Amino acid sequence: MRMRVAVVVALAAGIWWLARLPAGGAAALAAVADLAATGARLATKAAAGEGDPAQAEARPVVVISPGHGWWSARTEAIDPGDTGAGLVEKDVALDVAVQTREILTRCAVEVRLTRSGDDREHTLAGVHELVNAEAPRLALALHTSDGAAAGGVAAWYTVGGWDDAGSQRLAERLATAVAGRLALANRGVLPETAIGGLYIHPWQASAALVELGSLGADSAALRDRRRDLARAVAEAVLAELGQPAACAGLARVRGWPVAVGFPGEALSTSLTLTNDGLQPWTAGVVALRSAGEAYGAAASFPLPAFVAPGESVTWAIPARAPDSAGVYEQRWQLTTTGPDGQPVTIEAGASVTLVVVPPQAQELRERLDREVAQAKAAGEARADAIIQDLQDEITAWAMAETRRQAARCLGVNGALALAGAGLAVGRRRRRTGDKGA
Ligand SMILES: [Zn+2]
Repeated sequence: MRMRVAVVVALAAGIWWLARLPAGGAAALAAVADLAATGARLATKAAAGEGDPAQAEARPVVVISPGHGWWSARTEAIDPGDTGAGLVEKDVALDVAVQTREILTRCAVEVRLTRSGDDREHTLAGVHELVNAEAPRLALALHTSDGAAAGGVAAWYTVGGWDDAGSQRLAERLATAVAGRLALANRGVLPETAIGGLYIHPWQASAALVELGSLGADSAALRDRRRDLARAVAEAVLAELGQPAACAGLARVRGWPVAVGFPGEALSTSLTLTNDGLQPWTAGVVALRSAGEAYGAAASFPLPAFVAPGESVTWAIPARAPDSAGVYEQRWQLTTTGPDGQPVTIEAGASVTLVVVPPQAQELRERLDREVAQAKAAGEARADAIIQDLQDEITAWAMAETRRQAARCLGVNGALALAGAGLAVGRRRRRTGDKGA
């Protein structure tokens, strides 16, 4: 959506510029074509693997069963599990399960959850049917221990089940990963026979049950560090599947990296990325590299500091505004160094938006500067709304200018191009309207 809007705006500005200065107009349109092609490439990449049956088969299925949340015939209510410190076990387990799925699906793993909320259709006695229907490689149950229990992480494995060796290994990985990442005590692994059997027993997979911590002693971790809990569970699953933790690497762009300027002007902006992967980013190994036209910036920037998962880092990125009015995208890739010394991409989608205002449009530029400053002050939540306003303003300005120029400079072909641009803007306005409805 955002890419399409940028292309439409640049197109409108490009047509106006073409009317003014044919050479500059050609450059602007070339930039527009490049943006459009990039959008197409990204779309193709996103589609690949989703609909490819051969690739889908290669992805092992992992079932995550959030503990409790099933209908109880005895109490005639949903079983909440344990409660303590304002936390409910079924909700903690579900949140960690959903976040673990989000992390794991970045890798070659198919994740299924046994429930996506409270489930009134099934009881605990029927959970094995839900698990086995997925024919998973691995299956895990997420729980917490009650508030009176000693703090720490414990995991349980099957005895006489589908794959006891795999179950015990998975349990060990889970206990080690959760205890290590959250600095909780590791209470070790236990056979299900120690408490007379568990509901993971009939699961037809390498199955383990993990208690992520105590609702008493570990309540702070269970309340505030769900992302780290999910990272730990994902780390254990990937290790058991023999997949590298690096496949779950992800950087999230924070805020709205945008700069407004006149053609040829020096622009200063910054890019802030949050490490949402499983592994820290280490200086000398991870770097930001240009993935296209750098618009005057260096081709790469080193990582300035150690960045643990969950932490953020900011790069100052100087640039030079292109010579033609329009909206440009300075694209960046965050890369790490692979075992063979070659760069491996952690994140390909980070970008800085450069808005180049025609030199005659002093008032427009001042207004855009104010709006960008307001957007940044308002924070991430309002950035999408502000970029809409800003792009509407540039479009309106460019269209008004185009009409003025068209009256004097454009012939029949120009008038047709103008009609096309008008249609594109009209369609976008309608889409925006739909979104708001
Ligand atoms: Zn439980």
